Amino acid sequence: MGAADRLESTREAICRAAVDCGRDPGSVRLVCVTKTFPAEDVVPLLEAGHRVFGENRVQEALSKWPPLREKYPDIELHLIGPLQSNKTREAVELFDVIESVDREKIAKALSEEIARTGKRPRLFVQVNTGAEPQKAGVLPESADSFLAACRDAYGLKIEGLMCVPPVGEQASPHFALIADIAARNGIKELSMGMSSDFELAIQLGATYVRVGSAIMGERDYPA
Ligand SMILES: *Cc1c(COP(=O)(O)O)cnc(C)c1O
Repeated sequence: MGAADRLESTREAICRAAVDCGRDPGSVRLVCVTKTFPAEDVVPLLEAGHRVFGENRVQEALSKWPPLREKYPDIELHLIGPLQSNKTREAVELFDVIESVDREKIAKALSEEIARTGKRPRLFVQVNTGAEPQKAGVLPESADSFLAACRDAYGLKIEGLMCVPPVGEQASPHFALIADIAARNGIKELSMGMSSDFELAIQLGATYVRVGSAIMGERDYPA
């Protein structure tokens, strides 16, 4: 079975999961995560009609996606990995959605870059729901004030929240936590759920699921 077949079965699984919990399947979008895979492995998915992709490194995405975009101009590219402030310019240039806004320095750099270029990627805030020291994301207890600062100090419209639950823990409390934070802040989009738990994330309200290995196959090296 190739990646295009796995894409199709993942789409079907998303659809079933949505219907099973009474949601409109159209309310859940699939971000296919192509990190570590070369452009030639992405082409079959583009040929199959898929357009929404996620990358976790700005540098890697820069070498992979501009040539693909020339052929498939309606690609929607999501940055799902940490953003360094010195990469803000490239990130705003390349990505349609930046899911990993997580500190004031980045918020400020993004607002300056948006003002400078007039380009407006959609922005999500990443929440470090497990408070893991090595992981990106704003701490849950700081999320409300960070969201207020994005809006009031930097003029940024935050449309979604994203989380990556700790490995080896039940994901559902983490999904429920960002769903709560989103609800009380009037935020609509929830990016949560990966290959192993996207069905659960859909039950808990995911509007974007980020699926890599279930479609692309196992990654040869860590991202
Ligand atoms: C790699 C990655 C994914 C996809 O993970 P899989 O388990 O391969 O589906 C999703 N989200 C983020 C932030 C990632 O880095």
